[in-house]
Amino acid sequence: MEEDASTVLATDEEEVRDVDVAGTAPPAEVVELLVEVAELESLPRFDRDAAGERAQRVAARARELGLPELELRAQLVRAEVFQRRGELAAGGRLAQEVQQWASDHDARHLLARSHYVLQNVFLDLGDLSLALEHSVRAVELMDADTPAPLRFDHLGRLADCLGLNGDIAAARERHPQVLRLAEELGDVDRQLVALNNRAYVEALHGDLDVSLRFCTRMRELASEHGRTLHVGRLDTVARTLLGLGRLAEAEEVLLPVLEPEFRRASPDGDAGADSLLTLAEVRRRRGRLEEAQAALDTCVRICEELGLGTVRVHARREQAEIHAAAGRFREAFEEHKGYTHDVLQLQSDQRDARARAIQAMYETGEARRQSRRYRELSLRDPLTGLYNRRYVDEELPRLLRVGAGRGTPVTVALLDLDHFKRVNDTLSHDVGDRVLATVAELLEAAADQVDGAFAARLGGEEFLLVLPGPEPAVARDRLEQVRRTIRSHPWAAVTADVPVTVSIGATHTGALGPCDPAAALRRADTHLYRAKRTGRDRVVSDPG
Ligand code: GH3
Ligand code: MG
Ligand code: MG
Repeated sequence: MEEDASTVLATDEEEVRDVDVAGTAPPAEVVELLVEVAELESLPRFDRDAAGERAQRVAARARELGLPELELRAQLVRAEVFQRRGELAAGGRLAQEVQQWASDHDARHLLARSHYVLQNVFLDLGDLSLALEHSVRAVELMDADTPAPLRFDHLGRLADCLGLNGDIAAARERHPQVLRLAEELGDVDRQLVALNNRAYVEALHGDLDVSLRFCTRMRELASEHGRTLHVGRLDTVARTLLGLGRLAEAEEVLLPVLEPEFRRASPDGDAGADSLLTLAEVRRRRGRLEEAQAALDTCVRICEELGLGTVRVHARREQAEIHAAAGRFREAFEEHKGYTHDVLQLQSDQRDARARAIQAMYETGEARRQSRRYRELSLRDPLTGLYNRRYVDEELPRLLRVGAGRGTPVTVALLDLDHFKRVNDTLSHDVGDRVLATVAELLEAAADQVDGAFAARLGGEEFLLVLPGPEPAVARDRLEQVRRTIRSHPWAAVTADVPVTVSIGATHTGALGPCDPAAALRRADTHLYRAKRTGRDRVVSDPG
């Protein structure tokens, strides 16, 4: 049985990859998250649920800290967990969305990893050519920074895909490099993966002597290091021996699979059903039909319990063979007819399942883009196009948390137009609306100048400007500039000679300040009130 490297038990400490955290040295928590993601990316998925939960926790925290690339690296680990569990549409969809972001943002490592995960999804879907395409990209996108275990995974998978696609020459060309990488890493488990997959591909290609050489190396390596070969690997060895007619040896290799405990530990999710089928065939060919039937019965029971369609169909063919060997030709004929029918049905079911999964991967992407668009609309004020209060309720707490986490200040400024009633009363409500829209444009332009800043309309003629990052003195200068820009805008065309000015109350949160959004807004409002009382058209902010 061919396997992916995520069944490997890696022990290496991973190198932490550089991530740009707004140009600042990453605080301790960010470093911890980076280490954890790097570990998840190259660690075993024996404990799939635990890996999924860890990845989800890291993703949520990275999101809170405003680190999208880190968040998506964790999401990709979740996609891999879905794929390993057989939830291919869910895993594929997530991987494909991450891939979209990675390619929009030129995030090379993320892009390479997304191709790697998608290749595993398509391999499981039985779409070898798409799997091959993704595995080629996953390899092309590696660079000098790619950690060695991931380099092994990507190169090894490419060799497997080539081999499974029938390009044995290309697979053979790459294989020594893959094996050498695992050896250089001193990673016994990855060496076992490489040897098993090479043996599997060689056997598939019919080169049983070569396959046996790699089987033997795999068994020697395992026993040297006290490792037990799991069910799938025993099956690789037994199939090769079976092909060579070395039946007694094949049966001996398979003896452990008679133990339910041993079978359950199979990382392939088929509880050893495949290996029982091999055992049935070996026993039949040795002429021990009753024992062959017993192994086959257990195999069929597992297939039915776990809904393993493919193995179940192959079991019918073996059943026909056992009937024939026992001279029950009528039963053999009936069973074989059933088998032929089921094979065709299975192929068409698989085609449908593949089409459905692929459609689900992309369709839901589109549906999500739509709902994101609706959501985005629901967070905008229709008159000015600025964000509305709902957006502020969601975004302000997050920005304040990020600021507190990084130890950088965030300026929260409330802006209220001065004597705005006068504009409405002396001109018209329409003119008032145009003034509001123009002020909104000026605020949007001001927000564009600061990374991560945003402007919102809280209601009426009251606005909010949030500036994360700049020191208080710099932020105050910017607000002064906003005030001057509004006052000196060529309003004559809109309001004739009625002036438009704004009063601003601002507060700064920072490493020392509180990050409670309600408290910040209250403080800004107090300052705004002072700005109004002391003559309007001015900025009042925290003392000091
Ligand atoms: P102050 O300098 O004290 O802020 O005086 P003001 O006149 O701006 O204050 P007040 O809050 O009393 O009035 C705000 C006015 O804004 C009242 C309302 O008619 C007007 N307004 C609120 N929303 C809109 C809107 O969407 N369009 C227009 N044209 N006017 C609006
Ligand atoms: Mg007002
Ligand atoms: Mg006002």
